[in-house]
Amino acid sequence: MLRIVNPATLDLVREIPCQTADDVTAAVQRARAAQPAWAALPTRERGRALRRLAARLLGDEELIETLVAESGKPRYEAELIELFYTCELTRFYTGRVGRRALRDDVRHPLIFANKKARVVYHARGVVGVIGPWNWPILNNFADCVAPLLAGNAVVLKPSEWTPLTSLRVQTLWRESRLPPDLFQVVTGQADAGRALCAQADMIFFTGSQAAGREVARTAGERLIPAVVELGGKSAMVVLADADLPRAARAAVWSGFAHSGQVCIRTERVLVEAPVADRFIQLCSDEIHRLRQGAPPRELGAPVALDVGAITFPRQITVAKEHIADAVAKGARVVTGGSAPGDLPGQFFAPTLLAEVTPEMKVMREETFGPVLPIMRVADAEEALRVANDSTLGLSGSVWSGDAARARALARRLVSGSVCVNDALVNYFCVEAPLGGVKQSGLGFRHGPESLRQFCRVETIVEDRAGLRWLSAIIGRQLMFPYRARTLRAVRWLMRRLYG
Ligand code: NAD
Repeated sequence: MLRIVNPATLDLVREIPCQTADDVTAAVQRARAAQPAWAALPTRERGRALRRLAARLLGDEELIETLVAESGKPRYEAELIELFYTCELTRFYTGRVGRRALRDDVRHPLIFANKKARVVYHARGVVGVIGPWNWPILNNFADCVAPLLAGNAVVLKPSEWTPLTSLRVQTLWRESRLPPDLFQVVTGQADAGRALCAQADMIFFTGSQAAGREVARTAGERLIPAVVELGGKSAMVVLADADLPRAARAAVWSGFAHSGQVCIRTERVLVEAPVADRFIQLCSDEIHRLRQGAPPRELGAPVALDVGAITFPRQITVAKEHIADAVAKGARVVTGGSAPGDLPGQFFAPTLLAEVTPEMKVMREETFGPVLPIMRVADAEEALRVANDSTLGLSGSVWSGDAARARALARRLVSGSVCVNDALVNYFCVEAPLGGVKQSGLGFRHGPESLRQFCRVETIVEDRAGLRWLSAIIGRQLMFPYRARTLRAVRWLMRRLYG
């Protein structure tokens, strides 16, 4: 059994069965049987069904209450980030962009001008989506929308720490009279994920590097595609001419939203020395205004809370380890540094560290918790050097009063995505691909590019209308028996084209 506990109160939320590899096999087989009928529907109709479901999620109070209870995050983040994002993503993919990306694409070759190449986007079959605990809808069901729209069946394996939200989505799916085997949730631990990797036709994985490597290895053995979305160490670069109060507000929000358990969060701040003291003071003032506590679940409850609980207890250990290592190497705790004494659940105070240096763990390893280190740099070039001195490359931001200078710097950051004078909003730009580079992952979500990842691509080459006669002539000249005259003609052509 899986015991799901509310991290903010430590109360038991629910116990559910922990499914086995055999359960996963059965789910994949059912999904495989249901998929062809779904793929045969026009994209527009599949889109309509997914939009109907999104509307259903929007009106479901139990969904949000479940999400808040099992994650310990403020209701504000559950609704305004997770649910809003899921609906927006569904709107985007089920609209014109999605239909266009999945439509046959006809291309005209130059050399065989008598031919046309039709690119066909087929569904791959059964896509296994494996999700983490930090975003129970956004990195779980929402990542199923694109593969479903592309005509696949999906088996979703949510994290064993937060599976209840996905189970609620599955209930709503069935109540919406959508084919029950087309989208299924399997609950379980890593072994259930492994079983899914062993059977699905494609894997979309979000989680840790260690598990991501194993998923990629299995996919490599089976020669199936896998997208792996892993951790980050995103840098925020603050130049001396930046709007400092705004940058400080963004540093604190992007550092402490969901208690820092956000993959694209600001993990390191690099600020130009002349404004560093003022910036640290502004961040400290912002942090002192934050309200931390157990999130009320009810719809009518006032938004009296900014920072909730730590969903995964190990992140408290990591935060403590990174703070201790930094302090031992000369960093200063400006604010926070320990668990707040007056809260019964899993909490850690938003912690600001100053005087950090690049060799500290907090500057090198993903913290994924409420610790924000600020380092002084001499100039933009040093900021860039430190920011790029990382094995990870997921997100980041550049802050300057000169947008062109900031953009130029952003282009030199080795990262999947960068905000200029903002933070975290890149996740809502669903029109553009978002993914990690270096060891932050392979592949991406968002944009038509991501939708096509869920397709098996087939190219069909055929005659252009009215030019069959030309194909017959070219075919006679080109095929056996080889002729010296043809060789001379092609030599002439090659020299004209490329010589
Ligand atoms: P995790 O790797 O422990 O677990 C993620 C999921 O994978 C869970 O469902 C788990 O049961 C399953 N799993 C674990 N081992 C597996 C294996 N060997 N084979 C198949 N499945 C396996 O990660 P987590 O602790 O849940 O998530 C936190 C991490 O996720 C952080 O590093 C964070 O940065 C990252 N993350 C990345 C993104 C992104 O978009 N890049 C988004 C959210 C979270």
